[in-house]
Amino acid sequence: MGRWSGRIPSPTEYSAPYWRSGGEDGALRLLRCNRCGKWTPYIKRQCPYCGQESLEWRTVPGEGVLYSYSVHYRPAAPEFQSQVPYIIGLVQLDRGPRLLSRILGEPSEMAVGRRVRVVFEQVENGWAIPYFEVVP
Ligand SMILES: [Zn+2]
Repeated sequence: MGRWSGRIPSPTEYSAPYWRSGGEDGALRLLRCNRCGKWTPYIKRQCPYCGQESLEWRTVPGEGVLYSYSVHYRPAAPEFQSQVPYIIGLVQLDRGPRLLSRILGEPSEMAVGRRVRVVFEQVENGWAIPYFEVVP
């Protein structure tokens, strides 16, 4: 895809499953609590809902709906200047949490409630950046 022009992630041993998701098998991996069963969109060691340190990486279907979005005509950082306008959105996964993500597509294609699915851009060493795209 060649869309990512920002810094390449520097995963830790703990966050590596998230950044390797797209490179290994194309499955999105997020943390889910073994105690309360809730998903978290954040990479943490402690569950933000029940406080237990029982989060585990699990695959989650990368499909959902666009809950909200904004079109950016000014880049958040100089390295994104060549990509404006770009879209940042909240994706409500069908079977998971609500994620903040880059949304691929034209602003005219976006609408709250549109179906989206995860896609990955390989960046280096097996790391991948997850995005969402509008399902045609
Ligand atoms: Zn929990």
